[in-house]
Amino acid sequence: MKLDAMGDLQRSHTCGELRKGDVGKSVVLMGWVHRRRNLGGLLFIDLRDRYGLTQIVFRPDADEAIFERGGHLGAEFVVGVTGEVVERPAGTTNPELPTGEIDVHVSDLKVLNASLTPPFVLEEPIKASDELRLEYRYLDLRRPHMQRLIEARHKAAAATRTYLNGAGFLEIETPMLAKKTPEGARDFIVPSRMHPGKVYALPQSPQLYKQILMVAGCDRYYQIARCLRDEDLRADRQPEHTQIDTEMSFVTEDEIFEVAEGLMVEIWRAVRGDEIETPFPRLTYGEAMERYGSDKPDTRFGTEIVDLTDLLGGTDFNVFRSVIESGGAVKCLNAAGCGGWSRSEIDKKEELAKKWGAKGLAWTKVDGGALAGGIGKFFSDDERAAVIERAAAADGDLLLFVAHDRKKASRILGKLRLVLRDELDLVQPGVFNFVWITEFPLFAWNEESEGWEAEHHMFSMPRAQDLDLLESDPGKVLGQLYDLVVNGFEIASGSIRIHRRDIQERVMAVVGMSKEDAERKFGFLLKALDYGAPPHGGLAHGGLAPGLDRIVMLLMDEDSIRDTIAFPKTYRGLSLMDGSPSEAEPAVLKELGIELVKPPDDDVPGQSSG
Ligand code: ASP
Repeated sequence: MKLDAMGDLQRSHTCGELRKGDVGKSVVLMGWVHRRRNLGGLLFIDLRDRYGLTQIVFRPDADEAIFERGGHLGAEFVVGVTGEVVERPAGTTNPELPTGEIDVHVSDLKVLNASLTPPFVLEEPIKASDELRLEYRYLDLRRPHMQRLIEARHKAAAATRTYLNGAGFLEIETPMLAKKTPEGARDFIVPSRMHPGKVYALPQSPQLYKQILMVAGCDRYYQIARCLRDEDLRADRQPEHTQIDTEMSFVTEDEIFEVAEGLMVEIWRAVRGDEIETPFPRLTYGEAMERYGSDKPDTRFGTEIVDLTDLLGGTDFNVFRSVIESGGAVKCLNAAGCGGWSRSEIDKKEELAKKWGAKGLAWTKVDGGALAGGIGKFFSDDERAAVIERAAAADGDLLLFVAHDRKKASRILGKLRLVLRDELDLVQPGVFNFVWITEFPLFAWNEESEGWEAEHHMFSMPRAQDLDLLESDPGKVLGQLYDLVVNGFEIASGSIRIHRRDIQERVMAVVGMSKEDAERKFGFLLKALDYGAPPHGGLAHGGLAPGLDRIVMLLMDEDSIRDTIAFPKTYRGLSLMDGSPSEAEPAVLKELGIELVKPPDDDVPGQSSG
């Protein structure tokens, strides 16, 4: 088809703009051919742009030649049409469409570009495979749903800037070519041409730079920062994600929480128009583990874990008694209303519990105020009454028990709790339950390396009252370390930082870092601490998990972060649209003084993660 130049044709309205009040106007619209229909000798086209759809009508009686050309337009052709806004005849209006009360009757048509037949239909919901959508991302992004996601992300970022600017924060960029950063994931490495044999690392987060900005007296810093981690991608991770990164000087945890809560209010208001309530509730890590079996509890529903250990120490049920005698715990979940479950349904839950490390999943049902079936018969009358009371159980409920060490029992029941949530539909859509998790342990024991490692990162300040335990009992040291969790997702994490070299060196020693190692890796930070570093602390919406990406996912009721990112990678770290990663030319490698060696296919990391 012959293409037209745009010339001086000027768009007068977008495809989402015209209403009944515009009837009679002469307009110029530009956009993509979305859907075409021939009806009663007329040609109807939905013209689409970022703002919406407008139905344009070609009539043979108006202009035979233009009608003819209109008939040759294919899907995704780009056109500019001149025409008149006309009220739709009664019975043909479309209340679903903001422009659904009008048509534009075309008097002139410019075909600005043609399109090959798209490899998939741009429909909602999309039926094309993920691979195809990612390869032709520019087509996929044209879909209204994807445009809404891009817009939501923009609004969240804009609200972030407005709010933090208003709170006295400075937006400061930190280097992309950086020294290795401390989150513990694998770095992406960039060889230096000017310094053969040396490399930069792409930042896993701006952590050290933002701390140094505090030493530099910047007082309040933020950045919407890209974080790059070369990890095998587990579900719903991306090699690059975006944090809303903040840091503040002379602050308490309370002040950091207050700023972060205000930020969430602004973002939720800007994107969803919802008012969320502050202050957010707080749970210590210990409480969260006890009640929910998770450090990122979904607090939208109850079904909390109930500890029965103190009630059952003397029980006749040997399995429980021996676990309790050896220092373990017996905990249960009340699956309310599940008393009608069949044996095979319960068995399926037991299989899951075993997969997660339980030795078994004991059960009993509440019937007529007594415990019926399963292990109910082993309890004495007093135990039965106490268990029913503690679990707030009523007729028709099913109690599920795990006996194990304290932490493990909670973790297993915590996972089971989420299975019950999904199977029993225990949460309503559109509800957001924020909760701060505080007082994380500073260190976690790594079974493999048989050593302590930082629970979050090693720049977090121990609680003042735990400083003396650093060397004697690191496992007991709690940190001024917190996460923000919503609906079971960690969306932010941070800490009050160590601002003194002596404490920093002690913490580094606990995680097995020699002085020389510390100096080589983080000497620049330690040196900065020596020059009057102020007390400081901060938060990254993101932390280990995706941040802005995850927030947009939650705001827009998406299941994955992938579509909150304009150009995401696959689980294997591939960009299907541009074909990266790709081979480098030998001359380029030579200049960098490096050689790439391709391992046999099955040695490629992440290859099996789909
Ligand atoms: N920089 C940290 C991270 O990315 C978050 C923080 O502590 O601010 O995990």
